[in-house]
Amino acid sequence: MKLKSLVHISAILVCETGLRIGGSKDTIQIGGLDNPIIRHPISDIPYIPGSSIKGKLRSLLESVYGRRTKHLQPQVNGEPCSCGLCDVCRVFGPHKNTNHQLGPTRLIVRDAKMTKKSIDLLTEAQQSKGVFFSEIKTENTINRDNGTANNPRQYERIPEGTSFEIEMVLKVYDEDDQQKMIDLIKQGLMLLENDYLGSSGSRGYGKVKFDKLEFQEIDVHKIKNVSSEESSS
Ligand SMILES: [Zn+2]
Repeated sequence: MKLKSLVHISAILVCETGLRIGGSKDTIQIGGLDNPIIRHPISDIPYIPGSSIKGKLRSLLESVYGRRTKHLQPQVNGEPCSCGLCDVCRVFGPHKNTNHQLGPTRLIVRDAKMTKKSIDLLTEAQQSKGVFFSEIKTENTINRDNGTANNPRQYERIPEGTSFEIEMVLKVYDEDDQQKMIDLIKQGLMLLENDYLGSSGSRGYGKVKFDKLEFQEIDVHKIKNVSSEESSS
């Protein structure tokens, strides 16, 4: 099996509603928020883990194409497809199946960094409004008997309108149907636009759209040109 080409996939993910991808409470100090979002450990700027995007794309595609065990029985325990034969397993990797003939997982999904435009906008908001790259949303439970709001709890979200740089790399081997794999990824992105990313989608969180989607084929035999300035410094 030989690597034939690499397809670089890029897009701008725009949050059309607040987006919440939970972080760890362990890193939050006493008096901090109950439900923080995930942030870069040094800059504290929120990002979207590649694993969150990849996992969501996969689960949406599996909802269309189905899930099977490595013994080709219907997957019942909520686990991803591990058949080792289908296109979802080819692109995303067969889950917990070490006995397959598919070769390496074809899709790499990078962590999505916030765009410079959004960083500038939210930095400005931080100075004028005191928000720190996020909004704090309070939710309640309505008491069914008297209609009052009980049990207030706070969730941190990435504000609507924030954008992130999506970067993925698709590895195409000589046995692969490149167009079919690209179409599968496009289908996954379409499904995601009609679903949600992160948590609390049924309560309005996590609606996203993908702008400027581009697929660029990279020649694997090309040798990187290092400029003389870089090499002499
Ligand atoms: Zn499969």
